Formats: sequence, C-alpha cells, structure tokens
Amino acid sequence: MSATALAPLKYADLGNYVGGRFLPVAAEMLDVYNPATGDVISRVPLSGAAEVDAAVTAARAALPAWSNTPIKERVQIFFRYRQLLDRDLAELAALVTEENGKVASEAEAEVLKSMELCEFAVSLPQITSGEVLEVSRGVECRVERYPVGVVASITPFNFPNMVPNWTLPNALVLGNTMVLKPSELVPISANRIAELLAEAGLPAGVLNIVHGGTQAVEAICDHPDIDAISFVGSTRVAKIVYRRGTATLKRVLALGGAKNHLIVLPDADREMTSSNVVASMSGCAGQRCMAASVMIAVDEMDPIIARVVEYTRAMVPGKSMGPVISREAKERIERYITEAEAAGAKVLVDGRATTVPGHEEGFFVGPTVIDHVTPEMKIAQEEVFGPVLAIVRAKNVDQAIAIENSSPYGNAASVYTENGGMARYVTERASAGMVGINVGVPVPREPFSFGGWNESKFGAGDITGRGSIEFWTQSKKFTTKWNREAGVNWMS
Ligand code: NAD
Repeated sequence: MSATALAPLKYADLGNYVGGRFLPVAAEMLDVYNPATGDVISRVPLSGAAEVDAAVTAARAALPAWSNTPIKERVQIFFRYRQLLDRDLAELAALVTEENGKVASEAEAEVLKSMELCEFAVSLPQITSGEVLEVSRGVECRVERYPVGVVASITPFNFPNMVPNWTLPNALVLGNTMVLKPSELVPISANRIAELLAEAGLPAGVLNIVHGGTQAVEAICDHPDIDAISFVGSTRVAKIVYRRGTATLKRVLALGGAKNHLIVLPDADREMTSSNVVASMSGCAGQRCMAASVMIAVDEMDPIIARVVEYTRAMVPGKSMGPVISREAKERIERYITEAEAAGAKVLVDGRATTVPGHEEGFFVGPTVIDHVTPEMKIAQEEVFGPVLAIVRAKNVDQAIAIENSSPYGNAASVYTENGGMARYVTERASAGMVGINVGVPVPREPFSFGGWNESKFGAGDITGRGSIEFWTQSKKFTTKWNREAGVNWMS
C-alpha cells in the first residue's frame, strides 16, 4: 500500500519535538513501513538545517536551568520514566514490533533493557561524586564533573527503543540537553519516549527530536552550537559523522557496524554451542550489531554443524523470527547468499525466497547457513546484517584467531570451549571490544560499558555504563588553599 492511497494511516504524520511540543514540519515526507506486512503505517518528515537549528535553539535555552538542577533532582525524573516504561511495556514493545518487525519477545526484551539503562542512569549520583585530596599541607585538589552542553544523539533502525535509551538517560542525568535524531525507518518509538519523559516531568527543551535522514545528520555535524555528537549506525556513516563532526571541533563518539566471529573449538559443548550460535545469528533477524556472522570451525566440527543446521531449520519466519527492515535489505541479504554460492560456498539452509502465509508482502528472509566459506569471500568480509551464518573452516586455533584478527571491524568475538586456558588464549588475542566465552551475544550489562574496537567505533570512551561518563561530561579541577599558616606551603 502506498502512502498516497486514501486510507488513513495508523499513525498520523509525525512532527518534530521541539521545546516540549510536537511541531508539524513543512518538509518532504517519507513513508514508514511495517516490515512484516509491507504496509505504510505513518510518514516522517525529512528535516533540514532549519529544523535542526530550531531544536538546538530550544536545547540551548533549556541548558542553564537543567544543568544547574542538582543531579539528585534530575534523577527523580528518570526514576519516574523507568516506571512509565514498565507501565507501558506491552504497548511500547508492540510499537517496536510494528515499526521494526522483531517478534514480541525480542521487542519486550528491548524495552526491558531500556529500563535497565535507566536503572544505571539513576545510580549516577552515587558514582560521579567527584574526588578530593589534600595534595600539600592545607592545599586541596578536587575534581567535579560538568555537562558538555548541548549534545546530539543519532540512532539506527535496529533498536528503536533501546538505542535512544543508550544515550538519553545518562546524557540528561549528567546535565546535558539533547537533540535526538532517530532512524527515519523507525521514528515512532522516539516520539513515544518524548511523551513518557514529559509525563515523568522532564522540562521542555531538555530533549528535542528532529526527524530525518542524511540532511538532518549533516546539519547536526555542521551546527556550531552543538558540543558533542554520539552516533550509532553503519561504519560507512560513522566515518562520515566522525570526520564531519570533529572537523567543526565537536566531541564525537561514533559506533559503527560489525562482523562478529564465533570461534568453535573441538571440545565445545555440542548442544549449548549449536543453540547459541543459531540464536545469535538469527535473533532480531540477524539485525544486531552483536549478531554472530561467521562461525570459525576449528578442526573436526561436523557433529556441531549438523546440529546448527537442525536448530536453524526449526526457526519459523513470521513466528520465531521477524522480517528484516526493508525490501532493499531483503534484496541485499539475498544477493550476499547468491554471491557466496557462486563463489563456491555450500548453502546448507537457504533463507532466500521465504514467504510467510498471510504476510506475502512482508520483508522476510529465512535463517541461512552457508558452509565452506573462505576468508577471501565477500560474505566472510562484509557486514551482511541479516540472518545468515557463514561457516569458515580453520585447521587450528591460531589460524582461527588470524581470520578474526583480519576483519576491519571489532565489535564482538566469542569462543566456545570447555578449556579455560584455551578460552583465555583466544579472547586475549581477539581484536574486538566485547568478547564472550560460551556466550553468543556478549553484550556487557550495566554498569559495564558497550563499545567495540577498530572500525566498529571511532572516538574515545564507550556509549553506555561507566565508560559513557567521561564522554557526557567534562571535568573541572579545583586547587584550593585556605590555610595561610601551613608549615609546608609551596603553592602560591
Ligand atoms: P545507518 O548508518 O544507515 O543509519 C544510522 C543513522 O545515520 C540514521 O539515523 C540515518 O538517518 C543516518 N544516515 C544514514 N545515511 C546517512 C548519510 N549518508 N549521512 C548522514 N547520515 C546518514 O545504519 P542503520 O542501517 O540504521 O543501522 C544498522 C547499522 O548500525 C549496522 O551497520 C549495525 O551494525 C550498526 N549498529 C551498530 C551498533 C553498535 O553498537 N556498534 C549498534 C546498533 C547498530
């Protein structure tokens, strides 16, 4: 169905959220799809520089009062916000399913994760209380944290509720005001988040939302009154944002794409390994930056591969697995499979040409397992971002590590083994920011930080947890002397 059809859309045209109000935008509108049905459910404005400027102006106006509000008061809003996420869990999860496609259990897990992120944010007063030390007799040094100022957060399509909540609670609790630019493919959840924060008592202008795509992002990078940008998305765009944002002297943290390797050693537990590998590659239809993309099978591995195939065949698109985000994504993923096959790899489970009865127009790709992939093949090197597992055979563990290390990405890597020494050997050498031992999706949970290495992240710090505190604040160092009688007093 096209948006130009006469039937009213389920959600009215979306507006930007500026200074506490939703504003209609006189800009080109883009259709928003339900990926499971192919139906258009809303339209989102493609904002430009003028809309970004209006949002930045509102965020700048709100900054003095917000940053001067004691942190213990700021967190009260996030205690309430966390309760509202809980109150509306079912509705928020249904919305994630509707605009992103992931199945109900995955969508609920996403919103539960947003609640956990809030729980960390409300603990920030306990862990950012500063430092003080008498450095010389009567002379004291102390460190206090101050917000960076007006910050921007640019987010991808794959977690419409969680990724905005990676940045928003911590950045705001730490005293910044924000312009959020959600993915134009899943913009509805962001507006619900704004409504809930307003209900929780967030003052107008502290959070602003600008909808759009490339133009809006470029305007954010160029805007002289934005102090910091966090970005989560593909490596191609992360590089653009990092280069363009830092060119105007902003602080930028840009998380990019991934190509995650699971190294399976011959002694790995067959059941746990095979079920984990399949869950990791197929969860959220493979559209997670922590998803297993390559399984490196070390030595004799046929029993585990046979079980991986069985688990994969048990997945049911439309029931245990959602669609991918768009028709373009479906075509791109299927092209990768076809090219791998043409290059000599063996497709053991084929997710091409998958249709779900009753959802014939949905963007479904079935779970796919491809064996005998070689490290030179495109499917072994590039991010596919779909439910596709490439199996590469390695003769020994060092060859497996070399294959993992040769990837330009570095988000996650895991090893499956029952041998603790080998687990340490592999994880110490893996070139990735988040490593797992017998864990297929090694996402660090709060208070640990989320962030990769290499081309999976540009900039210092991590995006969540303790690692984000440095990014969202700047420290002020005080040196104070009151005691004029000090015996040893070398500080004039
Ligand atoms: P994307 O890079 O296409 O889009 C991300 C954001 O950038 C969106 O808000 C989009 O509007 C904007 N954008 C797109 N093209 C642009 C351009 N040319 N110039 C400026 N801005 C542009 O990513 P996506 O498809 O929405 O999300 C999937 C990607 O995100 C995958 O590569 C995935 O690995 C990655 N991802 C990474 C992490 C992580 O933590 N490293 C987390 C989630 C997703």
